[in-house]
Amino acid sequence: MSQQLGGQPILILKEGSSRTRGRDAQSINIAAAKAVAAAVRTTLGPKGMDKMLVDTIGDVVITNDGVTILKEMDIEHPAAKMMVEVAKTQDDEVGDGTTTAVVVAGELLKRAEDLLEQDVHPTVIAHGYRMAADKAIEIVRDLAIDVKPNDADILLKIAGTAMTGKGAEAAKDKLCDLIVRAVTMVAEEDGTVDLDFIKVEKKVGGSIEDSGIVEGVLIDKERVHPAMPKKVENAKILLLNAAVEFKKTEVDAEINITSPDQLQMFLDEEERMIRGIVEKIIASGANVLFCQKGIDDIAQHYLAKAGLFATRRVKKSDMEKLARATGATLVSSIDAISPEELGFAGIVEERKVSGEDMTFVEQCKNPKAVSIIIKGGTEHVVDELDRAIEDALRVVEVALRDKKFVAGGGSPEVELSLRLREYAATVGGRAQLAIEAFAGALEIIPRTLAENAGLDPIDVLVDLRAAHEKGQKTAGLDVNTGKAGDMLAQGVVEPLRVKTQALSSAAEAAVMILRIDDVIASSKSAG
Ligand code: ADP
Repeated sequence: MSQQLGGQPILILKEGSSRTRGRDAQSINIAAAKAVAAAVRTTLGPKGMDKMLVDTIGDVVITNDGVTILKEMDIEHPAAKMMVEVAKTQDDEVGDGTTTAVVVAGELLKRAEDLLEQDVHPTVIAHGYRMAADKAIEIVRDLAIDVKPNDADILLKIAGTAMTGKGAEAAKDKLCDLIVRAVTMVAEEDGTVDLDFIKVEKKVGGSIEDSGIVEGVLIDKERVHPAMPKKVENAKILLLNAAVEFKKTEVDAEINITSPDQLQMFLDEEERMIRGIVEKIIASGANVLFCQKGIDDIAQHYLAKAGLFATRRVKKSDMEKLARATGATLVSSIDAISPEELGFAGIVEERKVSGEDMTFVEQCKNPKAVSIIIKGGTEHVVDELDRAIEDALRVVEVALRDKKFVAGGGSPEVELSLRLREYAATVGGRAQLAIEAFAGALEIIPRTLAENAGLDPIDVLVDLRAAHEKGQKTAGLDVNTGKAGDMLAQGVVEPLRVKTQALSSAAEAAVMILRIDDVIASSKSAG
């Protein structure tokens, strides 16, 4: 890369670096971003299709979830990566609407390209897009409806909309009921919900219909020794993050034993040490032990003899959930074991779920802990259900927190498009063009919903626009009839934040990509 100075080139970048500028840079970035949007477009909505993603070692993920698709794809291009960020932000903030956000961002860039071709300057477009996004958020807030306290019906519908098209169709009602029950059990008086209290445990086997809810924590582990009790009432629980094993030396040590007596002494010493640990555990008053590390055979024997219930190699995340639910402290050294660190649960019991032994910790000190067991025929089904449930839990939590929801099915996008066009006329100038482009871009949602349902997008859009012009603000696409239908009446509803977040992150990404007119890439070898 060089600059000319009196005929003499001055190199400012390392050899092999590449540089693209001006319209070229914009075109390439826009094309990359549009490609990302196109990749997820066909999954949008209740009739969206799934994608099968195969990674380098052959593992398969089948999903309809925008953010999962983009995370699994090995995306390289920097502008395309920015689109992936849109989906990730949306997922972090609200847990749903990831495809919507990416599809809108892609369409905003497509329309911006048309304006660039008409020689509208990128900063003018960026400014217009920002104005339009602010106005759109204001309008959609105005469209929002209050979630009334204890209105389980609306929460069920919100959960149902989030689950639509995600492979859970057959048992949607049952799963939505589980989700809303779990969230309301955990909810505080003011509507805040700490989703950390809800544990989702996946099990392959049985059918989706066999999924259920447990008031307490469910751990995918069995007790370590068959002589241990299967059920402990009034459980005093020790959570231990240290091995109940003979301490191995850090370095490779060699012990020379020259007589059988010495071997016996050595073994006796090992046993004495382990007994010491077990005695400490028993002396604390614990009758249940969850150990994050191993418990060796001798220790298992003594623990069983003392009538304890013990499980080993419990996951860290499960240990944390147990700590919150039972009030126990995570103890990380044998010396720190004491009665004060113990937690409490009414029942700890090993029961079979789909033929596998699991540990149920019920009637916990903190009654807010709940677990959802999801079952499904194959691993892929269970994984996709798990993602759908995570999304649904998040949207119900957001709806309870913000206490606002909007109709879905493309209805807010058509209404926004209409109102933004009116707003654009009041703005005038070149910004008007950008605001109109923004208004048009939002219609990509109803258009895509129609396309994915095998309907004619133009007919659908004409029908929806006509309904909104007549004042039917909640008219969206009824995918069964292919006509405009009242989304509120059909129960297609979403938390307000899904829409506001999608609008702001899509606009931000589009503006950021538009404002780039110079891409300087270091050469790979220089990196
Ligand atoms: P995202 O990742 O953006 O949430 P989805 O594939 O879940 O993508 O699709 C969400 C869109 O589908 C939203 O616009 C929502 O309103 C719409 N939608 C969901 N259920 C229905 C339905 N039964 N009828 C029409 N539209 C629906």
